[in-house]
Amino acid sequence: MRTIFDICSPGRIGVSLPGLDVPAHEGLPENLNREGDGGAGLPRASEGQVMRHFINLGSMNYHLDKGMYPLGSCTMKYNPKLHENLARMEGLAGIHPLCPDSHVQGTLELMHHLGELLCEITGFQGVSLQPAAGAQGEFCGIMLIKSYHESRNEPHRNEVLMPDSAHGTNPATSTLADCVVVGVESNEQGLVDPEDLRRKAGPNTAAFMLTNPNTLGLFESHIGELTSIVHEAGGLNYMDGANMNALLGIARPGDMGFDVCHLNLHKTFSTPHGGGGPGSGPVACNGKLADFLPEPVVVREEDGSFSLKRSRDSFGRLLAFHGHIGVLYRAYAYIMSLGAEGLREVSEAALINANYLKARLSGHFDNPFDHGPCMHEFVLSGDRQAKLGVKTLDIAKRLLDYGIHAPTVYFPLIVHEALMIEPTETEGLEELDRFVEAMISIAKEAEEKPHLVTDAPVNTPVLRLDEVKAVKDLCLVEPAAEEGDPE
Ligand SMILES: *Cc1c(COP(=O)(O)O)cnc(C)c1O
Repeated sequence: MRTIFDICSPGRIGVSLPGLDVPAHEGLPENLNREGDGGAGLPRASEGQVMRHFINLGSMNYHLDKGMYPLGSCTMKYNPKLHENLARMEGLAGIHPLCPDSHVQGTLELMHHLGELLCEITGFQGVSLQPAAGAQGEFCGIMLIKSYHESRNEPHRNEVLMPDSAHGTNPATSTLADCVVVGVESNEQGLVDPEDLRRKAGPNTAAFMLTNPNTLGLFESHIGELTSIVHEAGGLNYMDGANMNALLGIARPGDMGFDVCHLNLHKTFSTPHGGGGPGSGPVACNGKLADFLPEPVVVREEDGSFSLKRSRDSFGRLLAFHGHIGVLYRAYAYIMSLGAEGLREVSEAALINANYLKARLSGHFDNPFDHGPCMHEFVLSGDRQAKLGVKTLDIAKRLLDYGIHAPTVYFPLIVHEALMIEPTETEGLEELDRFVEAMISIAKEAEEKPHLVTDAPVNTPVLRLDEVKAVKDLCLVEPAAEEGDPE
């Protein structure tokens, strides 16, 4: 792929600076100078060339402003530009985290109100907006639970129970928090087996960690029984709320027997993500845990002003400052512009869209956990195609040729050749149908001309990558230019 340096030639310049109105500084070191031998090696291209270079690179990318992105578990929804504009307003984006509280009352009030709204949505009483991602929210939740057990003189409780369908971050964060992961089995319906949970919950149980709806897109219908089993054993219940897009205004973790949950603001609440941009994974909890929340939290004083307060029992800080404020602004704009009714409609539409896709695709792909309607996502299996020599990875690559982002593949681990599909509420019927038609067409190709699928992609700027080499021989920097290369 061409880099900016490949289109350079001596003497070209992209900007015209106004004349100096101060004396020129003499003695800028040669190596920082654009001109001359041993110069800084800056690219030499015209403004038009630079513009075209980057626009062309950008348009090779696939993104939500181009088409649907049914990446299961990631809730890749279209994010309204209104929220972008708001997050960039000078008075919001330009403040410094060390400003005195009295200078940033507006932002503190917004954070306070956002916290109240998230408590309302989850059915909880305490909240921290600090965690920088879902995974850090999980870590925060487990730290709260550990602090709780320590405060009750039960520091030995260190087992975190979780189902075999859990997202990889769940065991990772529990281990990081110095806990031991204990697996709980799922039954044929794809739901947690209460009997197995009963066998495993006991005097060492710190927490039960569950995603609901689970990673198969199924609601754990006996959730009350599951959370009671854990409470009776003296443990607490943590809900991984990354799938909250299915529940807004319909069901609340706090009402299901959970003690704490995190939300992925960058999934459910309108922040573009993917590619490693900032995230936000606030944690909401009930009264048992609120005193241990990371410091500081925003409180409303008696005179109506807002300030950042530390709590005596807090387990400490998670970030240097108060959270990824730009994501919090967008989430606030999202919630306020939709209102309570609108949030419920988001989840209802997400459920309807997923069920529409499931119904249209079920005849063409295996669906091992098809025991009725799904929630906001569902998991197909590519087993039928695998018997023809076409793997799920091939199907995912072939979708790129049809101009559509692939679903999540090979997750959750309990489904063979998994294809995890989450359309979100923001796709209309035409786009859903475009996806269905591409998938059906690929299923036919697998039967009739499988090489079309196994050779894919052929229409993308980069063809099939050697995934093993990419992992084993990772190179993230531009190889150094060799002697004699054009500048
Ligand atoms: C995305 C996700 C997470 C982790 O969230 P990050 O913000 O990526 O750290 C955890 N659990 C589930 C079910 C998820 O989908």
